[in-house]
Amino acid sequence: MSKIEMTTPLVEMDGDEMTRILWKMIKDELLIPYIDLKTEYYDLGLEHRNATNDQVTFDAAEATKKYGVAVKCATITPNAARMDEYDLKEMWKSPNGTIRAILDGTVFRTPITVKGIEPTVRTWKKPITIARHAYGDVYKGVEIKVPGAGKAELVYTAEDGTQIKELIHEFDGAGILQGMHNTEKSIRSFAKSCFTYALDTKQDLWFATKDTISKKYDHTFKDIFQEIYDAEYKDQFEAAGIEYFYTLIDDAVARVMKSEGGYIWACKNYDGDVMSDMVSSAFGSLAMMTSVLVSPDGYYEYEAAHGTVQRHYYKHLKGEETSTNSVATIFAWTGALRKRGEMDSNEALARFADKLEKATIDTIEEGTMTKDLALITTLENVNVVNSQNFIKAIAEKLS
Ligand code: NAD
Repeated sequence: MSKIEMTTPLVEMDGDEMTRILWKMIKDELLIPYIDLKTEYYDLGLEHRNATNDQVTFDAAEATKKYGVAVKCATITPNAARMDEYDLKEMWKSPNGTIRAILDGTVFRTPITVKGIEPTVRTWKKPITIARHAYGDVYKGVEIKVPGAGKAELVYTAEDGTQIKELIHEFDGAGILQGMHNTEKSIRSFAKSCFTYALDTKQDLWFATKDTISKKYDHTFKDIFQEIYDAEYKDQFEAAGIEYFYTLIDDAVARVMKSEGGYIWACKNYDGDVMSDMVSSAFGSLAMMTSVLVSPDGYYEYEAAHGTVQRHYYKHLKGEETSTNSVATIFAWTGALRKRGEMDSNEALARFADKLEKATIDTIEEGTMTKDLALITTLENVNVVNSQNFIKAIAEKLS
């Protein structure tokens, strides 16, 4: 059998711990036998990040700008314990944060739905994708614990010295204060990434803020989205038969709970933080959640939403059996391969991605799954397998 050819390499970012083990198994069992796999390889494993003073992370992000599509394995974000464990020169920053800052992208998280792992919300039939604006608001907030009576003002000083001043509150006793900001540039990037991804996946886009209460701050988000939609996306949305829908955040939450799913829900930073955990847990499992970073310039970086599954890795190192779910990591690869196929008009590659996803879903729906899914499935008499045998079962179905 001849292998599927690739014309442009994928940017491949390897990672850490258990997901690094799965990464190799996925390539060996599910990709290399079928594809003449071309990748530009960057080792984002913590040891190599440390050896290169994290330069490898910057290089990988730049390569993503060059080629347009990347696939990333989960990586360790160092903390104090990791400093000792890996004898690090510095507490290197989160690679995802570094890459996101360079690509200026928005992260879209989508649950992988299968029969037998049913959402907690009865009406949800299709996945709900959450897009979180990952800049500013309360995450860059400045706070004061007000000690006692006094006047609080909001002051902006322009470069030429002119000022805009607003009274916040005349305190007659102790209290609290918070100042937060966002930038027009960041909101525009967020909006463009959302419209691009909605077109890309042919799904409606919902966006919600509290503009009735926040008449300047939240209203600016609403206005920027509407302006960009009208100027750049309206015609394309209509041609694709999809809709841009704006509503108040409380109305959005109520509608989401009664919807069938099958749309992208764009959220401001805090809403996205909170709602993505609600949506992902209601869909079943973190191990079944994919994630893609989409930049306003049209660069894509695919990964699993979960981390490196550290606990399983330590078991693996002791020679014990693990049953780690590789579905989200497989879907990171298929997402990247499909996108590469679309960009290069390589239909065979895009079709292979569809087939691998189908083989993965069929394997689970026919009752072969890892332990995390076996614990929550509504299927009976399931065949619980270890990490390796799950991938082998998919390989058998694929062949
Ligand atoms: P984790 O996602 O690795 O694990 C969280 C919990 O979910 C654990 O109980 C784990 O057993 C379970 N789980 C997650 N994925 C699973 C899978 N595929 N199969 C079975 N069970 C699964 O998160 P954590 O334990 O908080 O972090 C471990 C490491 O991962 C940390 O060093 C952290 O910095 C890193 N991390 C990386 C990313 C990323 O690269 N995108 C995201 C989150 C965490």
